[in-house]
Amino acid sequence: MKNRQIQRMLDDIEREVRYTRKMIGRNALDPKVMSAMENVPRNEFVPKSYHDAAFDNGPLPIGHGQTISQPYIVALMTDLLELDADDVVLEIGTGSGYQTAILSQLCKQVYTIEYVPALADIAKARLESLGYDNITSMTGNGYDGWPEHAPYDGIIVTAAATHIPKPLIEQLKPGGKLVIPVGRPHLYQELTLVEKDVNGEIDIREVLGVAFVPLQGERDEYI
Ligand code: SAH
Repeated sequence: MKNRQIQRMLDDIEREVRYTRKMIGRNALDPKVMSAMENVPRNEFVPKSYHDAAFDNGPLPIGHGQTISQPYIVALMTDLLELDADDVVLEIGTGSGYQTAILSQLCKQVYTIEYVPALADIAKARLESLGYDNITSMTGNGYDGWPEHAPYDGIIVTAAATHIPKPLIEQLKPGGKLVIPVGRPHLYQELTLVEKDVNGEIDIREVLGVAFVPLQGERDEYI
C-alpha cells in the first residue's frame, strides 16, 4: 500500500520537474535527492487527520497556521543546493521537520531553526524518535542565521521573505548556495537561488514562482 503511494509521489515530482524544466534548468533531479524523497516517510510528518493525503504532491496544514511544503518543492529546493556528503547546511523554518530529514540524508550536519516553539519541540522529538542523528535544532529567529556554526555550504529558507536577509549571505561559505522564496508574503514569491563564488561574489537567479507562509521577524536590512 505505502510503496504504491510513495511511487505515485515520486512520479508526480518527476512529472512536475518535466513541466517546469525550462524555468528550473534541469530535466530531472539528482537521483540522490529522489532516493531521499523515497526513504523519508512523509506520513510521519503530517497530522494524523491528513494521513490519507500524506503522499499527495501538495502542502498540508501542520497547525499554528503553518504548512508542510509540497513534495515537488521540497525536492527542488534540495536539488538546487547541490549538496555533498560532507556539507554543513542551515535550514530556516523547521516546521514539521520533513525538509530537515530530507537534507539530513544528503549532507554531514543540518542545523535547523524554528520560530514557533511548539512546532520546534514537536519536530525535534519526531526527528529524534525516527533516528535522524545529524540534526541540531533550535527555537529562534532564523533571519539572523546561526552564527556559531557558520559558514554553511548550503542555506535553505522555507518561509517567504520580502528580501534576502544579509546575515544569511554573510554566513554562506564561498562556493555555497542559498535557496529562499522572495516576494510578497501572502501572495506570491520567486524561489531565488543565491550563489557565493570562491571570491565572495554574489550571483542571484530567480527560479520559479512559489507561495510560502511568511518569514516572521524580518529586520529592515534590504539588500
Ligand atoms: N520546511 C517546513 C516548512 C514549514 S512552513 C516543512 O516542510 O514542514 C515554514 C515554517 O517557517 C513555519 O513553521 C514557520 O513557523 C517558520 N518560520 C517563519 N518565520 C521564521 C523565522 N524567522 N525563523 C525560523 N522559522 C520561521
